[in-house]
Amino acid sequence: MNKQRVLDQIKADILHQNICPDLAKQANQLVFGTGSVDANVVFIGEAPGKNEDLKGEPFVGASGKFLDEMLDSIGLSRTNIYITNIVKYRPPKNRDPSREEKEAFIPFLYAQLAAIAPKVVVTLGRHSTSCFLPGLQISAIHGQTHDITVKIENKQYNWTILPLYHPAAAIYNQKLRQTLRDDFKTIKQITK
Ligand code: URA
Repeated sequence: MNKQRVLDQIKADILHQNICPDLAKQANQLVFGTGSVDANVVFIGEAPGKNEDLKGEPFVGASGKFLDEMLDSIGLSRTNIYITNIVKYRPPKNRDPSREEKEAFIPFLYAQLAAIAPKVVVTLGRHSTSCFLPGLQISAIHGQTHDITVKIENKQYNWTILPLYHPAAAIYNQKLRQTLRDDFKTIKQITK
């Protein structure tokens, strides 16, 4: 099966298995992920917000604009990366996703990564980072790559994780904004 068909099947599985029905009921739609299935870099955020829920695409609001700016600074754009969230429905009033909600979506997120097989997985913010590097503080590990091994249905996957601050945290904080810009350069080094 080609990559796009695998991704389409994962999306269909989320819908058929009725994952997080309470979130699904309150959201406008499932926000699965967008970009190139052949991407070297996959970005993972937390959960859709209001704009993403309306448009059906991740990172289309203020954080997304900032993300686009940083992608541009390293010569990338939405067409050559893939971007998704851990949780695929907007939590009501943009509250943090619960542990149960994150756990419910993790097998689907891992399946997306297994299908795309990127060179680097960029986790944006602490929620996304803790799905891959539990117990580590983003303030201590941002901008550093970590090689991990994940077993899914008897298959083993080796992923390079690069934790970064979430763009939403950096928008209004000049120091974090510069840190995020500097950390972005690591993506360029890994993917060149
Ligand atoms: N914040 C996220 O973590 N994901 C989005 O899609 C938008 C904002």
